[in-house]
Amino acid sequence: MQNITIAIDGFSSTGKSTLAKQLAKHLGYIYVDSGAMYRAVSFYALQNDIITGVVLNKEKLINALQDINLNFKFNSELGYSEIYLNGVNIEKEIRTMEVSGVVSIISSVKEVRQKLVYQQQKMGKAKGIVMDGRDIGTVVFPDAELKLFMTASAEIRAQRRYDELVLRGDNVSFSAVLNNVQERDFIDSNREDSPLIKADDAIEIDNSSLSMDVQFNKILELVNKTLESYK
Ligand code: C5P
Repeated sequence: MQNITIAIDGFSSTGKSTLAKQLAKHLGYIYVDSGAMYRAVSFYALQNDIITGVVLNKEKLINALQDINLNFKFNSELGYSEIYLNGVNIEKEIRTMEVSGVVSIISSVKEVRQKLVYQQQKMGKAKGIVMDGRDIGTVVFPDAELKLFMTASAEIRAQRRYDELVLRGDNVSFSAVLNNVQERDFIDSNREDSPLIKADDAIEIDNSSLSMDVQFNKILELVNKTLESYK
């Protein structure tokens, strides 16, 4: 059966990456978390005083891009790939509130997007890929055979992210997480370069009241239908 490209976009904390990982595992496809790449650049920027507070030195960031080398390595124990920045696994470091607080500013920079989109398109050349993000169905893979657009209420999304952070042992408040989710959605949806919008041909999934199992089975049906039509 022919391999396809599955693009999953949507708002923050809508469960895109959980779904993408499940689908990739089921289909034997590659999974790429494009958000991890923007988070990794943000982590580098924080470490190198390229962004302090929310003040960005854009020129310094653009010059630093040549020193930022990102790649994914498959972790067979976890069953998915982890992100490496200049050879160092930073999968944990990129999931903090500090990184979440600046990532939408960093990802609004055109030069950052150009570099990452180029790399993402290279990874998807051979198809058989599930990628999640904000501009996958609109910019990275506009010809993807299946495009999903995930939404859920802001409160439900914040609760999911809050539970994840608490489980990791992070000391955060629910209101800080809710603020961050809403702020990122606003910046991501209103930036000039590749804003978060639903592609015309994307299928919208509101999972506010869907269990993970029900959602997965519903989407698997869509995948199978798509695979059938490209046989
Ligand atoms: O998916 P995740 O929430 O980890 O993404 C973090 C941030 O990275 C988003 O809020 C957005 O600013 C940026 N991003 C993006 N384009 C993508 C993926 C993520 O701008 N394709």
